Order: sequence, then structure tokens, then C-alpha cells
Amino acid sequence: MTDVYIGLGSNLGDRLSYIQQAVKMLEFHDGIKMLETSSFYETEPYGVKDQDWFINAAVKISTEWTPVELLRICQHIESKLGRKREMRWGPRVIDLDILLYGDQIIADDILTIPHPATYDRACCIVPLLEIAEDVIHPILQRPMDDIYQNLEFPEEVYLYGTKPKEIT
Ligand code: AMP
Repeated sequence: MTDVYIGLGSNLGDRLSYIQQAVKMLEFHDGIKMLETSSFYETEPYGVKDQDWFINAAVKISTEWTPVELLRICQHIESKLGRKREMRWGPRVIDLDILLYGDQIIADDILTIPHPATYDRACCIVPLLEIAEDVIHPILQRPMDDIYQNLEFPEEVYLYGTKPKEIT
């Protein structure tokens, strides 16, 4: 069994419900043990700015599935929840990313692990910090909170329900 961190994001439709459903689908999936879930966060869109804010969360699971098997499980959950393949960084009902898979490093045509967002995306790192504070990033060899403290251009991230009204 390996400890794995998965990031979840949604910025279309009932965002909270999509994230909650995806967490439940992971939790009740064969061969997956749910260990921890982060709070929900509202986060500024990255790349394509002209779209709604995201809700992001992260979960810690323990699993025997290989990284590629786990990716297929995540993609199956995405399509069950109605996700269509769409533009890069564009709106999506649900996105599941394998952020960390134990301390494995993978870089091939199918998977990049650690996920690139673990280097510089506040929307990924802030939820992750809540449940992976002692984790050392396998490539950067630094704790996640050190990576967060040194982000050059962090996107805005608010605990769900605390985003100021003047921000649309
Ligand atoms: P996305 O649009 O973020 O869902 O990206 C989809 C593609 O990213 C998939 O076809 C995966 O093969 C690829 N990918 C590469 N690394 C990862 C990862 N760590 N977690 C999830 N998808 C990944």
C-alpha cells in the first residue's frame, strides 16, 4: 500500500457537489482507503482568467493500484461525473490529479508525478499542506510549506465561504 495525494478541482455547475461526489467515489472504490480530506477552498483561475473561480480540495488515500491504474480510476470518476475533454486550463466540472504517489518520480507520456502543480500552484499546494505538512517533495527535496512560503506569484486562495464579496 502506498500513500497517495489526489487534488480535486471544479469550476462549472454545482462545484461543491462535484468535489464531494468525487471524494465519495474514491472513498468507496475497491482497493482505495481514504485517509484524510482537506477543507474546500475557492481559488482564482490559472492560465485562462475569464472563467469562474474553482473549488479545490485534496485527499490522502492509501492504495495498491499502480499510478497508471489509479489515473484510469480518476478518469473514470471524471467521466461518470460528466466531464468532457476540453481546453487546457479551461472550465471543467471535475478534475482529479495525482499530486504525489509515495515518493515515486514518474515522467512519461501518460503521467508526470509529482504533478507539475505541486511546484508552483497555490490552489494545489494550500489544500495539500493541510494533509501533507510533513511530506517532502520528492524532486525539490523541500517540505510543502517551504515551497508554499516561497511561491513567487501565488494565485488567490480562500477557505470556502470566506472569499470577500467584492471579488467576483
Ligand atoms: P487534465 O486536463 O488536467 O485532466 O490532464 C489530463 C491528462 O494529464 C491525462 O491525459 C493524463 O495522462 C495527464 N497527466 C499527466 N500527469 C498526471 C497526473 N499526475 N495526474 C493526472 N493526470 C496526469
